[in-house]
Amino acid sequence: MALRLDGKELAATVERRLTSVVDAHTKTVGRLPGLAVLRVGDDPASAVYVANKEKACARVGIASYGAHLAADTPADQVLSTIKLLNADSRVDGILLQLPLPKGLDERPLLEAIDPEKDADGLHTLNLGRLLKGEPGPRSCTPAGVMALLRSNGIDPAGQRAVVIGRSILVGQPMALMLQAANATVTVAHSRTADLAAHTREAEIVVVAAGRPEMVGAEHVRPGAAVVDVGIHRKPEGGLCGDVVAEEVEPIAAALSPVPGGVGPMTVTMLLVNTVVAWCRRHGINHDLDELIV
Ligand code: NAD
Repeated sequence: MALRLDGKELAATVERRLTSVVDAHTKTVGRLPGLAVLRVGDDPASAVYVANKEKACARVGIASYGAHLAADTPADQVLSTIKLLNADSRVDGILLQLPLPKGLDERPLLEAIDPEKDADGLHTLNLGRLLKGEPGPRSCTPAGVMALLRSNGIDPAGQRAVVIGRSILVGQPMALMLQAANATVTVAHSRTADLAAHTREAEIVVVAAGRPEMVGAEHVRPGAAVVDVGIHRKPEGGLCGDVVAEEVEPIAAALSPVPGGVGPMTVTMLLVNTVVAWCRRHGINHDLDELIV
């Protein structure tokens, strides 16, 4: 039976560390760390995600400065809201909740976020910093995957890793982080021929294809660590990932569950990026470095 890569449990541990950093330095700084989640329109899934992020902020002592704009808000007004948040000294992290309503181009808006306040690590400068191995806020989902692997004693160094998916949100930064951790990385995507031939060679497989239950027993090498990033609502109710958990569990050495694996860690890394930005702005030493490699 595979070791369960428990994101819920790790998220709780990391939250405790964040709380103690915030508690220890709030008096000196004179204010709590601040995260602004900017939501445009009424995507129902986004409403739930934003509420979860705000609850997580409250748990560790991060102040929320959310803004919710109507779906028909013109791009220049969204842009001025971002500029206001960039200039707001109470705000250490800014997150533009995606997807945006049709007609709004996310790219110039993401680029307008001050890179030092980029809580999602998706600004071009921060993706460039990741590429070059320079410090900066890291993309939350892949950083959460790295933390899950490390905290379960899975060291990617010298291992063959396959990342399924090449999105800017997950697959690409994931491949860079695994490479930085000295894995030998293959990136598979929708045009990859014979996916299973690649994944069966790998000691670590990260699945971020957004295809319900596409990875089964035939894709997995016995003893591999499998991280399931996908999350889907099943027509009959409940959630599933990109991996057929019942098939892979008996073969793999480790598997992340859905829900309760990568999802909670994504939210936690947002908190980490915000607290680290607050520390950096105020010259505070912290012990969170291994979470943002
Ligand atoms: P995306 O649609 O932008 O990218 C999917 C990638 O998978 C593409 O690069 C595509 O080439 C590849 N792909 C698609 N079908 C494939 C196939 N049959 N074989 C190999 N590769 C294939 O999606 P994304 O934003 O990267 O997200 C991926 C999944 O992760 C989604 O299910 C999303 O909901 C989930 N997600 C979860 C979290 C979380 O916190 N748990 C965070 C972000 C994304």
